Amino acid sequence: MIKPLTCPVCNKQLPPQVTVSYATFPFCSERCRNVDLLRWSDGKYAIVEDIKDRPDLVQEYLEKLEELGEAEYEDDSESM
Ligand SMILES: [Zn+2]
Repeated sequence: MIKPLTCPVCNKQLPPQVTVSYATFPFCSERCRNVDLLRWSDGKYAIVEDIKDRPDLVQEYLEKLEELGEAEYEDDSESM
């Protein structure tokens, strides 16, 4: 049984291509992953909180992402 996974940021069901080996897992997209990263780096919400219950927060971080220039986002921060 595969239970549908939902994105912890936007609460949408994950697209079928998103699996545990996918770069953005458990988020539906890189955008949502970045929202979560921002959430943590921001320090305001260090306590685990369901961001999906806070659409205002999601919007806040999406706007912040755009300010940071999402188009110029480079994926070189993933040092494994
Ligand atoms: Zn999402």
